[in-house]
Amino acid sequence: MDFRLTPRQADLKRTARELTETLTAYETDCEENNGLTARDHAAIRDAVLASGLQAVNMPQEWGGAGLTILEQVIVQEELGQLTGALWDTVWRPANALRFCTPAQRARYLEPVIRGERRDCYAVTEPGAGSDPQNLATTATRTADGWVLNGEKWFVTVGDHADFMIVLAAAGTDREPTLFLVDKDTPGIEMTRVPRFMHTFVYEHPEFTFTEVHVPEDAVLGGVGKGYDITRSWFTEERLMIAARTTGAAERALRLARDWAVERKQFGSPIADFQLVQGMLADCAVDIAVNR
Ligand SMILES: Cc1cc2nc3c(=O)[nH]c(=O)nc-3n(C[C@H](O)[C@H](O)[C@H](O)COP(=O)(O)OP(=O)(O)OC[C@H]3O[C@@H](n4cnc5c(N)ncnc54)[C@H](O)[C@@H]3O)c2cc1C
Repeated sequence: MDFRLTPRQADLKRTARELTETLTAYETDCEENNGLTARDHAAIRDAVLASGLQAVNMPQEWGGAGLTILEQVIVQEELGQLTGALWDTVWRPANALRFCTPAQRARYLEPVIRGERRDCYAVTEPGAGSDPQNLATTATRTADGWVLNGEKWFVTVGDHADFMIVLAAAGTDREPTLFLVDKDTPGIEMTRVPRFMHTFVYEHPEFTFTEVHVPEDAVLGGVGKGYDITRSWFTEERLMIAARTTGAAERALRLARDWAVERKQFGSPIADFQLVQGMLADCAVDIAVNR
């Protein structure tokens, strides 16, 4: 099997590396202040648009970069070198938004692709983590739409996003269904912003939904389609996490190698010691295998 990159893939990797280098300048601020200022976010948005790497998972006809999965992985691997989850400033709309109707696309997806709006995905609940079928959030039919009640946890980018994709059990048959919900809809409250062990440029807040009225056309992808669409979202998201961890490991190895060459003990660089060499070699092998 030939693992060499094609010229196009090598070009993409170079572009992603240049964007990564630009974003590296924000790492210390993000770490020290647990996030960035609105001004920083605006500057990053311009840099992302200039790189052409916005919405890598969306078709060019809608304004995305239109990359294949392998090409997206190449980009994500480079971005994964960033600390503070700064890779997440290079927006990649939830693939669930591909199920938008043309009207929903114009209102939600296309502005996300352009960097004017931001989505977040609310599946997890206090009693529904690995098992989202244990969903307690409900959507009840009204004369002209639906009313949502429930609670969502771990909503990544929920602080920054202006609309949410919400999974709820719809109707008396409790059909798993996704809803497009503007975050300023009455009845939505951001109840808690828990601290995590990591530094992340955005937060993972918790939300409650109390009698949140949404119109009929808030349904995304059809009533009852919520699990299938969410599964494909998790698949894409987890695959990209894997790619980013490879990039993070590559950077860690580079730093460790540089330190081993620079640091002297017992009269020579510690890189001269066989056990240190062995650990660095094991890291390089693990990274190659994971890639
Ligand atoms: C940083 C971060 C970002 C997140 N972002 C989002 C988001 O944007 N939107 C969203 O909706 N959710 C998000 N989540 C939630 C995430 O999807 C859940 O944490 C995940 O589904 C697991 O649920 P849980 O934490 O409740 O763990 P639990 O489901 O309670 O699992 C606890 C432990 O039991 C294990 N376990 C569970 N079931 C089994 C089984 N059948 N067999 C063996 N072991 C099992 C798990 O592996 C885990 O170790 C995020 C979580 C984190 C940490």
